[in-house]
Amino acid sequence: MRTVRTVAELRSALGAARGAGRTVGLVPTMGGFHAGHLSLMRAAGKENDVVVVSLFVNPAQFGPGEDLDSYPRDEAADAALAEAEAVDLLFAPSADEVYPAGFSTRVTVSGLTDVLDGDPERRGAAHFAGVTTVVAKLLNMVGPDAAYFGQKDAQQALVIQRMARDLDLPARIEVRPTVREPDGLALSSRNAYLEPLERERALSLSRALAAAEATVGGGERSAGPLLAAAHAELERAGVEPEYLELRSATDLSPVERVNGSTLLAVAARVGRARLIDNTVLRAHPGGTPPHPGGKPPGGPTRKRSSGDPPRKERT
Ligand code: AMP
Repeated sequence: MRTVRTVAELRSALGAARGAGRTVGLVPTMGGFHAGHLSLMRAAGKENDVVVVSLFVNPAQFGPGEDLDSYPRDEAADAALAEAEAVDLLFAPSADEVYPAGFSTRVTVSGLTDVLDGDPERRGAAHFAGVTTVVAKLLNMVGPDAAYFGQKDAQQALVIQRMARDLDLPARIEVRPTVREPDGLALSSRNAYLEPLERERALSLSRALAAAEATVGGGERSAGPLLAAAHAELERAGVEPEYLELRSATDLSPVERVNGSTLLAVAARVGRARLIDNTVLRAHPGGTPPHPGGKPPGGPTRKRSSGDPPRKERT
């Protein structure tokens, strides 16, 4: 694996592969690699000849008072993990390389970025403008055939898919399932902020999603009882959600009943960490919904029912 820091080096490193007609997969990241990132690298490797991972803690997507300065950074450890996943190029640019003096362009997606994390009371739409601007730039810098994102950041994935469609960006946007700890906790670079007791409390997010899944599995479709079951898990752990909302999994419009694909998304602060998680609830007439990506968020509280798929080990 080679580490490159400039767009010029990146393009020259990819030139030969391009000339030979080899396909390129891009995994954009902010580092702090965990099994979620590695699963995206593996997916990119399966479907492309060349894998590029970008490692850039993007200042434009952090608001004032957020954790830009304390965000976990360990490029050497990340490089070793990426190399073990057979990544070809690690693109780790400086902030000046990405945002040269006089930089004055933003890519924004409206509508989808006003709700959930984009609500002005939360991270705000400016967070997503930071994300879409840097992802548009990375797509232009690398020119991949496909770019890989995690369902863990469900709203981000929808916003990026919309941007790519609206701007006719040629890369395929691939979204892959959330990778969880065996007890259900969604992997996140920010889990590094959790003290042991906070980690216990953080588990309530995936338990809340599992409780809602179990309620849907029992035939319930209305938002009220689903959200009540989820809230109860958070309350039990003394976790106050920033939001716990049911929305259309395709356009984030609010929904009152699980009908088709419905996103249940949660955000909460636990200690120093602001955590997010989500699941896609699917209502099937007369049946138990299958789990997104085949893997339930459920921790120990989730009741299994006879219609469930066989339990698989989670990575
Ligand atoms: P980040 O470094 O946090 O910006 O994440 C880089 C990419 O990894 C994004 O597309 C995230 O959605 C994805 N990702 C983060 N956590 C997970 C996870 N637990 N499972 C799958 N993908 C993830």
